[in-house]
Amino acid sequence: MIIVGTGAGGGTLAHTLASSGKRILLLERGDFLPRELDNWDPKPVFVDGKYISEDTWFDRDDNPLQPQVHYFVGGATKLYGAALYRLRPQDFGELKHASGISPAWPLSYDDFEPWYSRAERLYQVHGNGGEDPTEGHRSQPYPWPAVSHEPRIQQISDDLADGGYHPFHAPCGIMLNEEQPHRGLCIRCATCDGYPCLVHAKADAEIIAVRPLLDRDNVTLLTGAEVTRLETDSSGRVVTGVVVRRDGNREVYTGDIVAVSAGAANSAKLLLNSASDVHPRGLANGSDQVGRNYMFHNCKAIVALAKERNDTVFQKTLGINDFYFATKDYQWPMGNIQMIGKSCAEAMRGEQPEKTMFAPEWTLSDVAGHAVDFWLTTEDLPVPENRVTTDQDGRVHLAYSSTNDEEADRLYGELKKILNHIGMAEHHVLRKNFYMCMDIPVAGVAHQAGTCRFGTDPATSVLDADCKAHELDNLYVVDTSFFPSIGAVNPALTAIANAIRVGEHLLGRLS
Ligand SMILES: Cc1cc2nc3c(=O)[nH]c(=O)nc-3n(C[C@H](O)[C@H](O)[C@H](O)COP(=O)(O)OP(=O)(O)OC[C@H]3O[C@@H](n4cnc5c(N)ncnc54)[C@H](O)[C@@H]3O)c2cc1C
Ligand code: SF4
Repeated sequence: MIIVGTGAGGGTLAHTLASSGKRILLLERGDFLPRELDNWDPKPVFVDGKYISEDTWFDRDDNPLQPQVHYFVGGATKLYGAALYRLRPQDFGELKHASGISPAWPLSYDDFEPWYSRAERLYQVHGNGGEDPTEGHRSQPYPWPAVSHEPRIQQISDDLADGGYHPFHAPCGIMLNEEQPHRGLCIRCATCDGYPCLVHAKADAEIIAVRPLLDRDNVTLLTGAEVTRLETDSSGRVVTGVVVRRDGNREVYTGDIVAVSAGAANSAKLLLNSASDVHPRGLANGSDQVGRNYMFHNCKAIVALAKERNDTVFQKTLGINDFYFATKDYQWPMGNIQMIGKSCAEAMRGEQPEKTMFAPEWTLSDVAGHAVDFWLTTEDLPVPENRVTTDQDGRVHLAYSSTNDEEADRLYGELKKILNHIGMAEHHVLRKNFYMCMDIPVAGVAHQAGTCRFGTDPATSVLDADCKAHELDNLYVVDTSFFPSIGAVNPALTAIANAIRVGEHLLGRLS
């Protein structure tokens, strides 16, 4: 069995399969992310982009862009914020939005629920069930209690609750033991969301799924192994060769089953670049669906300023889903509000130099010391024209236009109302409310999904309900590519749960 990529999908799939004793070859184009002081330094991480790939992709107008992808053992989870949300039950059904329809999945929330529970156990998710009125039923409680709010965030949470909102503790995969701190690896630092964890206390795919397998005789990990092409037999139904570029050489590996888990854009790239006489449009692409329906969320990062200091260290503990669906005042779903890692002066300077000129009397450190940082996520819809294609040199072109902008703007409006409501307005630095608002550009591919969606109809989907390619007998795609829609919560837990689900299917197939 060959697995391409070691992130949330591929790493977790390998972990699920390893105990079977089946021989597994993991092919990962990156290396282990080095442990070094730079891991926790905002300048190399955010300003210099030290851990971002050197890839060049191209946008719809052929302008080059440097995508925010991370080629390491563990994939994007090495840098992720470890906010590990389940999709809402309604996300698995059809939902109407301002820009169109979010389609139904071939499986329901109830089908996914047991896999979510397993995923939460494996990735040590901390949370409090029952606080968020939009969450689905759970067969098991969170394996760990929620990460506590620090005083400023607790105050915001209390104010929100007093105002009739339903703030909840955000589900989070960090190895923090607040009852017995000496037994936890996590030191609750300020450099988590978007940073690698220097002390290996983040529940990422390398630490949780891949490292525990490295001493097993039946698992081999090759790093620096970029899979460039999949070859099939003459019928086109069986992948017979996995072509790898490693140390400048071409190598070919064989396995009875091949699972592609290279991340949504790179999995599509690999299939498209594997075109042949029997698959002229790209492997598994008779439906012309490979690469289409690319989604990455319609997101905004918001920095709200108050006179009151915000000395929070680990800020990503609060979520608000009061606007996840339609409300009595607005007919469309708006999305999720959560906190992100606390902004610091160095990162602000690097990310938004022109927008940090607003506070001549304040240093950036002052600004950062008073900032409260929010992340707004609105669902973006699967649109066929939002797609990954490759050119004759095999390079990625990413055409994307946002959807549901009206919902995203409305969500931003709701956040502003909340901030006024919880008393931040009267403390604002500037006389009027000031918010620094940043839309996430197309290069911000962190939440990429949807390029090989699963479904029951081979004419409109790439994968069947087990994530096997309709057109092949031994090819699976097990990463965020399979999403038919993306909901408005972070995608990693769903990718992890699905990898466990597909892994159990494969164990049945292989036994
Ligand atoms: C900064 C940041 C913050 C995030 N925060 C959150 C969060 O808080 N919560 C959340 O749910 N999600 C978050 N995400 C998103 C989350 O990390 C991804 O949804 C998830 O990792 C996707 O899993 P995947 O298996 O599809 O891809 P990845 O995890 O990216 O794994 C793909 C793997 O394939 C490898 N690869 C690519 N091409 C090839 C090739 N040709 N040959 C061999 N190997 C290849 C890559 O190196 C990588 O290891 C964040 C992402 C980023 C970047
Ligand atoms: S908060 Fe914990 S898990 Fe996150 S980077 Fe710091 S030590 Fe690591």
